[in-house]
Amino acid sequence: MRIEIATLFPEMCEAVLSTSIIGRARAKGAIEVNCHQIRDYTTDRHRRVDDTPFGGGMGMVMQAQPIYDCWKAVCAPYAEPPHTIYLSPKGKTMTQEKVRELARKPALFLLCGHYEGVDQRVLDRIVDEEISIGDYVLTGGELPALVLTDAVARMCENVLPSVECYEEESHYNGLLEYPQYTRPENWEGEAVPAVLLSGHHQKIREWRQAQSQALTQELRPDLWAKWLKCTNEDADL
Ligand code: SAM
Repeated sequence: MRIEIATLFPEMCEAVLSTSIIGRARAKGAIEVNCHQIRDYTTDRHRRVDDTPFGGGMGMVMQAQPIYDCWKAVCAPYAEPPHTIYLSPKGKTMTQEKVRELARKPALFLLCGHYEGVDQRVLDRIVDEEISIGDYVLTGGELPALVLTDAVARMCENVLPSVECYEEESHYNGLLEYPQYTRPENWEGEAVPAVLLSGHHQKIREWRQAQSQALTQELRPDLWAKWLKCTNEDADL
């Protein structure tokens, strides 16, 4: 997986991407992530990348030219341009299903907007899809691009120790994860559920599945209804 991030703040992205699991995955070559400074591609002699919106209104809009030239330069070595995503509060909300789909692509190009957003003409020219990380507005697309990169990277081979690391987690199979416990067995009078100490793998699996179902039903009735529907459809096949 190669991920190309176009941003006005590459140092902000690098700081996160050089740390922890993603930093180690990059260092050992399991994934490649490159951050590109959009400003390096402006033809403006004052290095401007934004201007006031036509029609009036608050704030500034990122111009088409530097973004398009950045995208073309980054795509040049590719036989096919990477799947291009604009991180935007107007996009489809990101889900684990979408992350799984993106993790199967060979390469992604992530465009981070700023200010009031990006000139629509360059979006129409280069973007395959717009993705939002939730129904709220942030100051820039860097945090959403980092969220997407983290979620996709951890599903790529050799990033986590094994596929079980993500297959058993919340959302992967449509349910929330069961509660987790670690040492000590008794903490301030609170004991770990006895079944987890039993060594009986089948019983532990059943307990975890029951906990997952109960938690999902209680905390996310929307996911629960979807899971029930899919499970019943599978049973009918
Ligand atoms: N004027 C835009 C609107 O109302 O839809 C919001 C622009 S926002 C202040 C600046 C940039 O942050 C956007 O261009 C986008 O790249 C990013 N952004 C903000 N919120 C986001 C979200 N929820 N998901 C993804 N990207 C977001």
